[in-house]
Amino acid sequence: ITDNRMYQPNDKSPLQIFVRAKKKINDIYGEIEEYVLETTTFITALHADAEIVDKAERELFESYVHKVAAIREVLQRDHMKVAFFGRTSNGKSSVINAMLREKILPSGIGHTTNCFCQVEGSDGGEAYLMKEGSDEKLNVVNIKQLANALCQEKLSESSLVRIFWPRERCSLLRDDVVFVDSPGVDVSANLDDWIDNHCINADVFVLVLNAESTMTRAEKQFFHTVSQKLSKPNIFILNNRWDASANEPEFQESVKSQHTERCIDFLTKELKVSNEKEAAERVFFVSARETLQARLEEAKGNPPHLGAIAEGFQIRYFEFQDFERKFEECISQSAVKTKFQQHSSRGKSVSGDMRSMLDNIFERITIFRNLKQDQKNLLTERIQGTETQMMQVTREMKMKIHNMVEEVEEKVSKALNE
Ligand code: GDP
Repeated sequence: ITDNRMYQPNDKSPLQIFVRAKKKINDIYGEIEEYVLETTTFITALHADAEIVDKAERELFESYVHKVAAIREVLQRDHMKVAFFGRTSNGKSSVINAMLREKILPSGIGHTTNCFCQVEGSDGGEAYLMKEGSDEKLNVVNIKQLANALCQEKLSESSLVRIFWPRERCSLLRDDVVFVDSPGVDVSANLDDWIDNHCINADVFVLVLNAESTMTRAEKQFFHTVSQKLSKPNIFILNNRWDASANEPEFQESVKSQHTERCIDFLTKELKVSNEKEAAERVFFVSARETLQARLEEAKGNPPHLGAIAEGFQIRYFEFQDFERKFEECISQSAVKTKFQQHSSRGKSVSGDMRSMLDNIFERITIFRNLKQDQKNLLTERIQGTETQMMQVTREMKMKIHNMVEEVEEKVSKALNE
């Protein structure tokens, strides 16, 4: 990686909803972990006194330590996931590259992605690749090498290649968005496997269509399967290659409204995943290739329109940005719900369980203490009794001795007189 472009943090991004929620829940779990550890140490010490805490209870507390540690690990790794689908060459890789503002995924003829490619952020400025089932980090020097590596590999169509790209190079990677590019939906018969292996935890799906043709049966079928497996998936539809419409301006509006109507019908009437209003906010007309070119120009300090492919660049560029904004809002809200809701209720139930167990123990300790007090009181009474007795005895003995001495004295003086 030779380019040292640094990303300027954008705290107004809707992705910050997720970023902040993640920080907050991680902090809370940090506190829960401290509390659980402290309590377990205390309980282990009490266990020495088997009358108060038994073995089963101590083991239960220890199990909470493991549970909380496991949840913390998952939480630290939690991210927002977006998966892209559509026919080969509709421009899935180009859309991802445009969003990442860099040509990371290979695209174009001869560079068809024939397996799943996941792009995620890496720490420490490193770029590398990892193949499924291996921990080996394959260094990525440049895009060309990455493209060749992906094309030369005989990878099965449902296997996964993970591309780690320096977080600081892109705001979306920095904010924990993970991108998944798929082989074309036209190539696979294993839709079920695809969905089970790569889509179950996706927060958003993006269907990339070619605006020059209509949605195909394969594309529709894929999303039918997705919506059967997941409840109400968030689906965005990009009518890509919209720059081509500039060649036929007289048909542009009618083509656009026809596509829009079909896409909205697909989301509302066929898949039933959103209502009309929501669906209207999920359909866009863009040019990924042009957006990427514009952004590459911007990165060089040039005006973005230098990347324009055809007439009407500005509208398409705005539409792409509008898509990104709505996408960011949707993905962060959805990810907070799906990823953190479950964990926060688990955290609540762990602390609730521990609290009631501690209440029980406290009750037992109180009873135990009262018992000890009673025993102490009894003992004190006994001691006091004994003391009185002893005093009595001592007094009697004294009297006896006194009497004895008097008697002896009397006897002695009598004897002397005699
Ligand atoms: P994928 O197979 O769906 O990932 O498609 P790619 O992103 O590899 O794109 C296939 C080809 O279409 C590449 O040569 C891209 O440059 C080109 N392409 C992608 N998006 C657009 C677009 O919006 N307009 C034009 N004119 N070409 C595009």
